Amino acid sequence: MRKKYGDREKVVKSYLKLTEPNAKEPSQEIVNRFSGRIDIAQPEMVIFKFFKAIMNEKLIGREGVSIATEEYEKVFGVGTWQKLQSTSTLMPARDMAYTVDYFWKLPADRFGYSGGCVSELADEKRGSLLISILNGIAERVYAQIENPPSRSNVNKKMAAAFINDLIRPSKVEDFKLMVEKQLEAYSQSKPYAGRSMRRAEYFCPVCNTPFDEGVKASADYLSNPQTHTNRGVSHGKFDYVMICRTCYFERILRQLLLQEKPSEMILLLPRMNIGYQAGQLLVDKVKKFYDEACSFMFGSVDPDQQVSLSLTHLIARNVLGRELYQLSGEEIAELLTYRHSDETSKKLRKSLEKKIRNFYGDSLEQANIEWCTDFTIWDEAISAVINNLVDDPVVKEVRDEVYRLGPQLKAVCQTPNLILIPLTQPIVLGKDGAANAALRRLFVSLFIGLALDVTVAIINNNDGFDFEGGEGVAWVPPVASIRKMVNGNWVSLADAQRWFRAIGAASILTTYTGYSERSNLFSILSEPTPGHILRRIEEKNNGQVSYYLFEYLDIIGEVLHGDALFLLTLNDSRTRILKERLKKSKMPLTVILTVILRKPVKPNTV
Ligand SMILES: [Zn+2]
Repeated sequence: MRKKYGDREKVVKSYLKLTEPNAKEPSQEIVNRFSGRIDIAQPEMVIFKFFKAIMNEKLIGREGVSIATEEYEKVFGVGTWQKLQSTSTLMPARDMAYTVDYFWKLPADRFGYSGGCVSELADEKRGSLLISILNGIAERVYAQIENPPSRSNVNKKMAAAFINDLIRPSKVEDFKLMVEKQLEAYSQSKPYAGRSMRRAEYFCPVCNTPFDEGVKASADYLSNPQTHTNRGVSHGKFDYVMICRTCYFERILRQLLLQEKPSEMILLLPRMNIGYQAGQLLVDKVKKFYDEACSFMFGSVDPDQQVSLSLTHLIARNVLGRELYQLSGEEIAELLTYRHSDETSKKLRKSLEKKIRNFYGDSLEQANIEWCTDFTIWDEAISAVINNLVDDPVVKEVRDEVYRLGPQLKAVCQTPNLILIPLTQPIVLGKDGAANAALRRLFVSLFIGLALDVTVAIINNNDGFDFEGGEGVAWVPPVASIRKMVNGNWVSLADAQRWFRAIGAASILTTYTGYSERSNLFSILSEPTPGHILRRIEEKNNGQVSYYLFEYLDIIGEVLHGDALFLLTLNDSRTRILKERLKKSKMPLTVILTVILRKPVKPNTV
């Protein structure tokens, strides 16, 4: 797609600034010509970038760099290595001036092509020529240095790091000693944290392990590596956190699994030792779940039905009242979906129709020819496109774009002993604060844990994990207020149903309670009694409370700890409903209140 003229003009201007500092304001013709050149040079810019990355001093050492400089300048000219080093992330103007231009100026006959400069060669020819030139340089560098980078070297380093990190057999014999060591490292490391320096003592902020030789974290694989720590006040400027090699390699592997940086990852472990058969059943179920989830994520049939792990109120409506352990893999996936509203669905259809008609110049005939179909009206054609009945690459691209289809999760499940489900999007809704988001993660964990009878933890990219599966059904995200609320780091099997239902019910009640979006779930579950929630709903809805909400209040009541003083604040109609509900206990309301309040209650006061 062509960029706007203004953007192209900006790029060309900064390009001219680098190449001809005295150039006049470029005319439209010049902008068009130069931006065309810069556009087609993009693949070559990326090739230079890759070369620059593999010729990094960290990989090939100082000696390697000096050989590389010499070899590089032999081809591209004196001073060009420095120019290459001064490029950074992709900046077309700079990359054009400092890398590609030098390549394009070379005479083609030097590489066995006739006449002219390299710039006159066809695009593919230039690309493969550049790769072979740079590859040649790299090979000559590797041949002359002592320890050229290799995959087996990386493998060895990874193995060495991971073997030290085993939970079992563990080298830690004395827990007290370990804690003392960690405390000491914590205090010693403060001045060094966030600085890359020699002879430093570091403390990995991810896994709490002391180390002296680590890696400067990068946002490529760790979120917010510059996160503020209050060490700055006494120890000065804070750059990027330093993490240990184990955590670094772990993140690299996570990224390889998803083929991009996962934002969160669902980990499944069997709760107990399981045998071969049960293991196979679990793997099978997860695979079926994943296949079904894929059909939703890629819109195989109906793109209006989408997967979401964040819309806990919709998931709760789907699942409360179902027997979770009886669900099949396919059903689990389906319960995690939602349908677009009619309005959204209409809007998407319109946008799809517009894009497709535009592409074919509003000619259905043309579309029919390209799709090998014989639709008589557009309406029919668009319906077929939506239902995935037209097999055509253009149609697929437009449909994916309009409905935002694509992978949101993956399933890595080669063994039942550790199943990974990396997510591309975090489980968070709208303006969720940390506590709210943690409750949503806990809800999804409990759902999957109960449905698959496994231990589940949802960790984010910065969390490490060191559990084994026997700890409980769901790991509580490391948010202090939530761990306090749940009273531990794990939700046990005995408590799992209660918490699952309570967070689900609270999700449903968020619309009625009108708490701030940032913390509505947390606020509901922090109330002392269901009565407080009821009072809040009344306040926010002019005293009106739908009868069916009482069911959700009851569910939430199972995890709250307060007493029932609220009853006194209710008005008459409310009391009537409560009376009906209390009839089951066959005790007059006054008696119940008397017991609760520990003082006599006259019938006319309720
Ligand atoms: Zn670490």
